Amino acid sequence: MKKPTRVVIVGGTHGNEWTGIQIVRHYQDYLKNKFPKLVLEFIFANPVAHEENSRFKDEDLNRAFQYLDEKRTSYEHIRAHEIKAIIEREPCLVLDLHTTTSAMGNSLIVTRYNSLNLSLCAKLSQQFPDCRVIGAPDPKLKFLASQSEFGLILEVGPVANSVVDAVPLESTLALIEQILEAMSDSQIVSGNCVELYEETQDVYYPQGEKGELNGYIHSGFQGKNFHLLNGKFVPFMTFQKESIEMKIDEDLYPIFINEAAYYPQKLAFTLCRKKSISY
Ligand SMILES: [Zn+2]
Repeated sequence: MKKPTRVVIVGGTHGNEWTGIQIVRHYQDYLKNKFPKLVLEFIFANPVAHEENSRFKDEDLNRAFQYLDEKRTSYEHIRAHEIKAIIEREPCLVLDLHTTTSAMGNSLIVTRYNSLNLSLCAKLSQQFPDCRVIGAPDPKLKFLASQSEFGLILEVGPVANSVVDAVPLESTLALIEQILEAMSDSQIVSGNCVELYEETQDVYYPQGEKGELNGYIHSGFQGKNFHLLNGKFVPFMTFQKESIEMKIDEDLYPIFINEAAYYPQKLAFTLCRKKSISY
């Protein structure tokens, strides 16, 4: 397999995640000059949502790609078609830049398991001690990064929405540079394996009869992304100060604890299974 020399870097898929937007706005020339062997293209994915300073205008662009065959009129549906057409012009690696309000450090989310995607993840997790790999297999190809066989989501946090913070901004840039460095070599190193956290179960907030929030993340659980859980643990506290316990029968690891964007769905965190995947 030959690596593509074209890399499409996408910022602002979510309009209120300002880090990726600044990368696309301010670092194009810097990256093009630093990596002359590569053909770099940049997309500002959702400028209308950014004008409104919101995650999306009509629907979540980073879920909209599963509906490409449907007749829809939403702004994000139109953008999904336009972005897909750009990605498909030539073979490429897609890097989709996101941030999270959850204290997850630097994460790479891989949605299609193949040698190039997994070897990039392995390389980055060796180079950045706090860079973890999350596996989110995407059979419906709903994510923007899944629109090419080769693609990764960069998910850096914690940072509040609509804020530019030095640490996530500089970390995102450093991750991009390492990926582009690796893409500048023509060889794909295979025959190794990478350790990843594969999403396995979503956990929702305690809710009342009308779906209203009845509790919050327990102080002892806040910020515990990627911490090993097995047996009983206490993820929630009710507003009446009662602890809510959960029990699991295997080693699992929580991610996206208290992510702001998931409150509308009442999604509190996601549990992952640690796996070693060969490539
Ligand atoms: Zn995002």
